[in-house]
Amino acid sequence: MSTFTEPGLLPRELIRLDAGVVDKADAIRQATALLTAAGCVRPAFEASMLRREQASNTYLGKGIAIPHGMVDERELIQRDGIAVLQVRGGVEWNEGQRAQLVVAIAARSDAHIGILRRLTRLMADEARIAALGRTDDAGELIQALAGIDAAPQAAEAPAEDLAQRFDWVLDYPSGLHARPATEWAATARRFAARIRVRHGDEAADARNMISLLQLGLKAGDLLTVSAEGSDAADALATLRIVLTGLSSREKADAQKAEDKRRAAARAGVWQPPGTMQSVDGVSASPGLAIGRLHRLQAGPLEIADEPIELVAAADQLHDALTRARNELRALADATGRRLGAADAGIFRAQAELLNDPALITLASQHLVEGHGLAWSWHQAVEATAGSLAALGNAVLAGRATDLRDVGQRVLAQIDPALAAPTTNELPAGSILVAEDLTPTDTAGLDAERVAGLVTALGGPTSHTAILARTLGLPAVVGAGAALARLADGDEAIVDGSAGRLYLQPSAADLESARAWIAAEAARRERAAQARALPALTRDGHAVAIGANINLAEQAAFALSQGAEGVGLMRTEFLFLERGDSPSEEDQYRAYRAMAEALEGRPLVIRTLDIGGDKQVAYLDLPREENPFLGVRGSRLLLRRPELLVPQLRALYRTARDGAAAISVMFPMITSAAELLALRETCGRIRAELGAPEIPLGIMIEVPSAALMADELARDADFFSIGTNDLTQYTLAIDRQNPVLAPEADSLHPAVLKLIAATVAGAHAHGRWVGVCGGIAGDPHGAALLAGLGVDELSMTPRDIPAVKERLRQSELTALQALAARALAAPDAAAVRALAAVAAEATA
Ligand code: PEP
Ligand code: MG
Repeated sequence: MSTFTEPGLLPRELIRLDAGVVDKADAIRQATALLTAAGCVRPAFEASMLRREQASNTYLGKGIAIPHGMVDERELIQRDGIAVLQVRGGVEWNEGQRAQLVVAIAARSDAHIGILRRLTRLMADEARIAALGRTDDAGELIQALAGIDAAPQAAEAPAEDLAQRFDWVLDYPSGLHARPATEWAATARRFAARIRVRHGDEAADARNMISLLQLGLKAGDLLTVSAEGSDAADALATLRIVLTGLSSREKADAQKAEDKRRAAARAGVWQPPGTMQSVDGVSASPGLAIGRLHRLQAGPLEIADEPIELVAAADQLHDALTRARNELRALADATGRRLGAADAGIFRAQAELLNDPALITLASQHLVEGHGLAWSWHQAVEATAGSLAALGNAVLAGRATDLRDVGQRVLAQIDPALAAPTTNELPAGSILVAEDLTPTDTAGLDAERVAGLVTALGGPTSHTAILARTLGLPAVVGAGAALARLADGDEAIVDGSAGRLYLQPSAADLESARAWIAAEAARRERAAQARALPALTRDGHAVAIGANINLAEQAAFALSQGAEGVGLMRTEFLFLERGDSPSEEDQYRAYRAMAEALEGRPLVIRTLDIGGDKQVAYLDLPREENPFLGVRGSRLLLRRPELLVPQLRALYRTARDGAAAISVMFPMITSAAELLALRETCGRIRAELGAPEIPLGIMIEVPSAALMADELARDADFFSIGTNDLTQYTLAIDRQNPVLAPEADSLHPAVLKLIAATVAGAHAHGRWVGVCGGIAGDPHGAALLAGLGVDELSMTPRDIPAVKERLRQSELTALQALAARALAAPDAAAVRALAAVAAEATA
């Protein structure tokens, strides 16, 4: 361990809290005085530090400056030490740069690198830096700059527990993998306390996802979570809720994966008629495909080592990391929309890898040694990935691939010339052969051009394998070095179910494979036909099924899943994905395209719902203490006619020109007065445009609206219940709060009672009621909602087949009885438990 962790480096007397500092020279003078008094330097060190300021910029960023002496004047240093001036108002270091923490470094040895390691770790934690700039406790500064908790690796952590603790047996069927580990680490980081997770003799820092993964935790492992520090008790209580709260999701995910595996097994494995040469690997995604081999050349990355100034490098690295994180956030959003929330989580977990302090520290060390930025970053990524891959654990090997993937993303930000080659230019019908594929490569694949995937490395639990399954691409992983001998362009058959790549197939092999593929396609077609049937209960009650989609391009997929129309088109995306407000014309085009894609099927378009969790920077809305309770949704539209009027004009023009049966609904309505004001504007715009009347509905998202449904139904043509918001407002649980997420269940009887009241109010006036919140896509939730009398359910397209199947197996009377029991249940868990009762009844 390097000398910087010696507590002697920063004794209390080298810290001056709330220092009165006139200017930079004064700060350097005071710091030298402290260092001289402690016997670290000779007085001439002050002049050496001033000379260093002439030669280079020692402002590190984020309010931290690191004055130090000239390299060739090290003889002025008698022993290593650092002096810290906390300057609460800041002191101008260079033009436009103010330092709140002046960390004067006197170091002859590698202590300098050590201090920078700590500082660069700190740079990633702005809240902590701000706290250090204000603290009255010198101990906090000592801990941050010269503390002894620098060992980020599990292997270095002593396997002893901290002062407070709890034990827990991990019950995630797939063990602790990257996605839950991301949530553990993110929770731990919200507290100041040190938090440790121990299993047997090994312990990990709970803030560090890689450190957690290195424990290799499996279902059934006993863990001890311990903490120490001022908020240790809170931290442990919160972690306990998060750890246990994730269990049900983990179990549901494992069940879904198992169902998929069973369905694939039912389809059987193809038996080729002849004996072919083959390469064996591991099945990663089922299915059979014929295509031509296309090798993806990764090519070793040649990265020149071009030294740059440390401060500039630190800034550039910080920027590159920020941009890469933003890209991953956007990719997670896009993947979520295209493939679903679970797959989106892959990229959220990748973003977490970029928070690994050990990685950033390693890169910083190379920088401090004088290496170039791209070179330093690449070395740090390779070293970390290499040590993960070497541990012989499949989950960690998968993270090594993820780490190289995000590492590459950051490299491309540092120097665009280092961006990875894309897979866009593939010939149609390619079987992609690669050493390994990153999740980024896989998520970006054009399924029209790629018939299948075969990789030399990787395992079935890799993120690439998960994405391939979602994309429905046959995939074989871990096929080893034999792939290197294959020739580009050769015809081959990939059998994802058997985990095998067949080479040089004969005409008879090809014919048999084609027949098998055709039979499989016919089976899928039968399943598609079942999805196309209406959601009609056995006793003849129909529930309308809509899709929640925002783009016309998503309509074809939604219809293929069995959607009968669109029950919720959120229009925020038009505003959220750009730098300025879309014009009336832009909006008209988007609505018109959706209407055309639906070919006359019902389309419910929701007006802009900005505010709450959906903030649009360029609208310059005032900051609110509680945005969910503030000027949000229709409240904003009523106050900003420049947003409302163009949108309504675009909607009425679509109604006038389009073929679809369009309806408009307003979000976050709390009173009849809001609805009447909106109706009046609609009437005026409709008259101006000579457009037809269209149904005007409202979302029921607030308890007051649900309770007043009878009144509101006089003026609204229909209701659509936004259970996501209705749940948060009913249970007083911020829908974004990860700690409370397990309790924010839309099947809570209180929410169900409000839904029942909404249905009663609507039906009394002959209005229909839909539900477009997440619970509509849960088969048990859908059954209960139908039993409560809801007329329409609108959901993510992928959820439609299971919901339709559930409703088609049921009798309306049974669903009504189920709903009555749910309304009388004491809590959400009891309502969930009714699923098992209902399953027995229909079995
Ligand atoms: C809801 O609140 O349930 C809803 C569908 O709207 P959003 O999720 O867009 O707030
Ligand atoms: Mg809502």
